[in-house]
This record gives sequence, structure tokens and C-alpha cells, in this order.
Amino acid sequence: MTFPFTGPWTSEHDGPLPDAADVLVIGGGIIGVMTTYFLALRGVRVVLCEKGRIAGEQSSRNWGWVRQQGRDPAELPIMIEALSLWRRLQRAIGEDIGLRQEGVLYLANAAKDLEGFEAWLPHAREHGLDTRMLSRGEVAAMLRHAADWKGGLWTASDARAEPWVAVPALARAAARAGAVIREHCAVRGIDVASGRVAGVVTEAGRIRADRVVLAGGAWSSLLARVHGVDLPQLSVRATVAATVPLPQVFAGNAADGHFAFRRRLDGGYSIAPGGAHEFWTGPDALRHFGLYLPQLRRDRRSTRFRALAPKGYPDAWGTPRHWDADRESPFERCRVLDPPPNMRFLDDVRSRFGETFPSLGRPGIAAAWAGMIDVMPDTVPVVDHVATLPGLTIATGMSGHGFGIGPGFGRVVADLVEGRAPGHDLSRFRLSRFTDGSKIDLGPSL
Ligand SMILES: Cc1cc2nc3c(=O)[nH]c(=O)nc-3n(C[C@H](O)[C@H](O)[C@H](O)COP(=O)(O)OP(=O)(O)OC[C@H]3O[C@@H](n4cnc5c(N)ncnc54)[C@H](O)[C@@H]3O)c2cc1C
Repeated sequence: MTFPFTGPWTSEHDGPLPDAADVLVIGGGIIGVMTTYFLALRGVRVVLCEKGRIAGEQSSRNWGWVRQQGRDPAELPIMIEALSLWRRLQRAIGEDIGLRQEGVLYLANAAKDLEGFEAWLPHAREHGLDTRMLSRGEVAAMLRHAADWKGGLWTASDARAEPWVAVPALARAAARAGAVIREHCAVRGIDVASGRVAGVVTEAGRIRADRVVLAGGAWSSLLARVHGVDLPQLSVRATVAATVPLPQVFAGNAADGHFAFRRRLDGGYSIAPGGAHEFWTGPDALRHFGLYLPQLRRDRRSTRFRALAPKGYPDAWGTPRHWDADRESPFERCRVLDPPPNMRFLDDVRSRFGETFPSLGRPGIAAAWAGMIDVMPDTVPVVDHVATLPGLTIATGMSGHGFGIGPGFGRVVADLVEGRAPGHDLSRFRLSRFTDGSKIDLGPSL
């Protein structure tokens, strides 16, 4: 399998579409795939439509961290469940998805970073996590012959997986469990009859279904808006690279204020500029500006503004906001959102890596890529039924941390669409929080 997922490919899932399903899932990222998997296991007739290829967008481009550490308190119980699901999935699906429990380590460049780490510890204690503070000496013992940090925050039970291996493997497992998965099949719109969901219109025809899950990542708000659902979602570009194989200096995932790195199964490291991401302005960015002010103030050092979103991107000025369902939609015009990496950022990260690990030096790069991260104003997702359109459930806006928690939210969404109790308090993820007068309550920036 080649990575990044760009250029032409042969669809793995290209069978015929049925006329009807119990549940139709839009989007073949980790959230759509896991929802489909859990529904299929229960014998639900579920169809997943992906406009491009499974995991072509964020779900293959991410760092691969499966992290409990630093999570929003409302996400934490779902993430703890997700980690145990990851372990079960690794055994159940019979393919190595690269799951390794080698820990997550946050490194403090300054004493004030340690205060931020300490502040998260009560959440870890409440859930019995193994998270603990590390002294300067303990960090030095863990990362020998490396830069000097003031201390760290460490969760040994945290994990990593190989995203571009794991998500396609999980999709195959869903198909084996009975789901119909179809790539290269954009959903152009939702069929509405008598004020509720009646199915979807795809580029390959209509499918009847009275329950639809929208898990379209960075594209979700574009589709939702056609149906009168205002989802204040935007996206930012994040750049990553894979080094050539190098000796092991650390087996897990680590980040300080400047850059992040994690060991990969192929013996290299995935490296990335820590919090730095780029934000292109477009009509949605202007519309939602007020809601994003708290986040922009907090992250002003890590957000770089860019003029206009490139042609065809979800929030580009030229991207249509309305279209006829019998014509080509913006989703077909951009099968895989594949932003180019920012080579200046990468240059800087390579230098930092080399300075941090002088024994390894400035690393050679095997591949470089970027992904558009879908974000919400408070950096936590929307996972909710849509009150104004019965039958529609939204699971999106994972805000840069949806890979690790994917199996957890997949199980939760499967329960939601089946009308079962999801087993966790989902009020933090309600759609109405942006319109019911609630103050924006920012999730952690850890
Ligand atoms: C650089 C980077 C690093 C990250 N690091 C981490 C990390 O270490 N750990 C972590 O937990 N998370 C991480 N994330 C975030 C994580 O990757 C995402 O939160 C997660 O993959 C989102 O999954 P998703 O299924 O919601 O969306 P996506 O993976 O974006 O999938 C959505 C899919 O929907 C499809 N789609 C959209 N509209 C339609 C339509 N109308 N019809 C059919 N298909 C449609 C798209 O083609 C796409 O494939 C990172 C993200 C990036 C980009």
C-alpha cells in the first residue's frame, strides 16, 4: 500500500448499491467506518458511501496517536472505551493495524507547561488512568542523549496505530460483517419526505433509508447546510512527514511546544510541527468568526492565516453552497482533499528533530503530506441527532483528535441511530450548543 493516498487508485469496495438500507452512512473515515462496523455486527442493513477512497482524507493522514492523555473530560470515558475497543479490534480483525501501547509523553519546555499538565491530572485520577508527572531526571532517563526538558506528563497505557493500514482494514472487517461499502460514490444530498429523512441521493442513484449518519469530516457542514442545518465547522491544514528508518530513541508518541514525533511500525518516525496549523479564509470562516474568537485568542501563536482557500476546498469562495441532486456536486469534484504539505514547516521540524536528537541528526524524509483537520469552535465534536431533520445523526468536527477515539464514537453512534442509550453523557457534543445561548467552553489545548 502506498502512502499518502493520492493519485489514481483501484476501488476496493465497488459492488452494486442496494435500493434500500436500514442506515446509510456518509463518509469513509474512521468515524463512518466504525459506525458501520458496529451496526453490521448487530445485523443492521447498513450502507456506507465514500466519495473518494476509504480513509483518503484525515483518517489516513493523521499522526496515529491513540491518546487518552489531555482529552476533554467529556471525551475521556469514550476514549477509555475506545482504547479497549482498539485492543479487541486488533485481535478480532486478523490484520496487524499497528496498535502498540507505548505511551504518550508531553514534554515541558518551560515551567508554565508543567502547570498546564498538573491541571489535567484530576481528570486522569477520576478515571483511574495511569497518567503521572515526570521530573526532569525521569524524562532524561526516558529520552537519553536528547534535548533537556523541564519535565513531562506521561500515560504509559496510551497507544499508537498505523492510520493508513488500520482504517482500510477496519472497513474490510465491516464488509465481512455484512455492511455494503462503496467508494467513489458521493452522496449529493438527503432525500426528505414529510419533514424527515427518507434516504439519500448518490451519484450512482437513490437509496432509501430512514436513518442517515453524516460523518463527512471537513465536508459535513457543506452537506448539512443544504438541508438547513447550520454546523459551524471549519478546517485547518496540518503538515506531517515520515522519516526514513532510524534507530529507536523513543517507542511511543511525544510532543513538546515545538514539534511532535512518534515511532512508526516501519522503523521511521512521523514528525510534525506541534501545534502549528494553517487557516484559509472563506465564506464560512467569516460567518462563524464570532464563535471562533475564543479559540483564535487562545491559539493565536499556533494559527497561521492564509488568504483564500484553494479551489474546490469545502470553504473556498467558488465552492457552490447549493446544487441540484441530479447534477455533479462539490463532493465529486474533490474526491480526496489532498492539500500539499508546507515545506517550510517541515524544514523547521527536521532541524528541531536533529537538534533534539544529535545522535540521529537531521532526518531524511520518506514521505510528506498534509491533511485538512475539521474543527469546531470549542474543539470538541458534534455527535447528536438533528432535531430539525428527524432521522439524521451527525458525527463530525473531531477537531484533530478523532482517530484515537474513533472506535468509541463509532460504537456510540451505532447505539444512537438504533435508539439505544449510548452509555455516556453526550450533552457536551450536542448540536444546539452553538445556538442555545451557551458560552463557548473550549476543550483542552494539551
Ligand atoms: C495531520 C493530522 C494529524 C492528526 N493526528 C491525530 C492523532 O494523532 N490522533 C487522533 O486521534 N486524531 C488525529 N487527527 C485527527 C483525525 O485524523 C480526525 O479527527 C479523524 O480522522 C476524523 O475522522 P472522520 O471520519 O470524522 O473524517 P475523515 O477521515 O475526514 O473522513 C470523512 C470522509 O467523508 C467523505 N465524505 C465527505 N463528504 C462526503 C459525501 N457527501 N459523500 C461521500 N463521502 C463523503 C470524505 O471523502 C472523507 O473520506 C489528525 C488529523 C490530521 C489531519
